Amino acid sequence: MTIIKMRFATKTIHAGVHPDPVTGAIMTPIYQTSTYVQEAPGQHKGYAYARGKNPTRTQLEANLAALENAAYGLCFSSGMGAIDAVIKLLQPGDEVIAGDDLYGGSYRMFTQIYERLGIRFHFTDLSDVSHVAAQVNERTRLIWAETPTNPTLRIVDIVALAQLARGGGFLLAVDNTFASPYLQNPLDLGADIVMHSVTKYLSGHSDVVMGALMVNQEELYARLAFILNSCGANPGPMDSFLVLRGVKTLHLRMKAHCENAAAVAQFLREHPAVGLVYYPGFKDHPGHEVAARQMRGFGGMLSFTLGNDDEQAARQLASSLKVFSLAESLGGVESLVGHPASMTHASIPRDRRVAAGVVDGLLRLSVGVEDVEDLLDDLRAGLDGLG
Ligand SMILES: *Cc1c(COP(=O)(O)O)cnc(C)c1O
Repeated sequence: MTIIKMRFATKTIHAGVHPDPVTGAIMTPIYQTSTYVQEAPGQHKGYAYARGKNPTRTQLEANLAALENAAYGLCFSSGMGAIDAVIKLLQPGDEVIAGDDLYGGSYRMFTQIYERLGIRFHFTDLSDVSHVAAQVNERTRLIWAETPTNPTLRIVDIVALAQLARGGGFLLAVDNTFASPYLQNPLDLGADIVMHSVTKYLSGHSDVVMGALMVNQEELYARLAFILNSCGANPGPMDSFLVLRGVKTLHLRMKAHCENAAAVAQFLREHPAVGLVYYPGFKDHPGHEVAARQMRGFGGMLSFTLGNDDEQAARQLASSLKVFSLAESLGGVESLVGHPASMTHASIPRDRRVAAGVVDGLLRLSVGVEDVEDLLDDLRAGLDGLG
């Protein structure tokens, strides 16, 4: 299947995978092994020890690389493990410019682990390129961007940041978790590294924690593969198998996520109990034009406030929904509701959090692929039952 140029839906199913050469099994076997027998000392079939390489993982890495139009893919035991590997490319004294409404775990790692080790982080609104340019200096080595951002769905112009990075001779890494490769391919827009929490849309079934990095530059791939093997954040073969299985329906799931989220966003916007709705598919969303240019749809995530930032109402609604489950995470087939201030973003200091729009009355929805009428009924019942 590598000779023909595959389109996205075909790639999710066929790219990187091949029938088992021994039995013809169509599904990639779970190579549950830690080591490989060598024919003579140092002479092996490319696999020496499973921290470095495992055939199930190799096929998944090839598949995910294809989805991002990348030359190379690497899988990690979690999204954080993947981000950790990118930051380990840096040295004390190096500086990073990152978004000011990052995934809470990324913010926690940057400020509580890596600032201590001498790397400096500047957090700024990446949706305004002039803010980013103002932070660049001769020690800048990396821009760490998410788009759409979490949870306020701001849109960052990847092409503009890539131009800035190229001009300054530093790297641009994009956390593409929220969009998934179905909607957005940052490497095609000039980014150097694309990162995924595979846990979310790529896996899609809320049963695996995994991360991935995709790159085009061979030297960058070699350095990241060295870090993966040296530091050991490698995923197991069973998880690799589960993601290979999940990814085969990525295109079907993403289409349904996008359709359902658009309907939910419109419903919320029209409901009198709802304050602001953050959804990049709205024409008046400040990032709509950039999103329409760099994405192929507006995704399955949205967030909203109740009344005039009413925390009590937000907590009550989050607990009263029946089809939406109250849980962290996103990107699975089932719909989830979260309260970022007390859940995913609790590790960000309150003043910084509120300044980035993550107010106490904000709720985030990961809109699943259930029947949209059931989702709307659930929200309607919850909203009508408030206070
Ligand atoms: C979940 C998530 C991460 C972290 O990934 P894990 O797989 O949970 O380690 C990073 N970035 C974003 C945007 C996420 O949603």
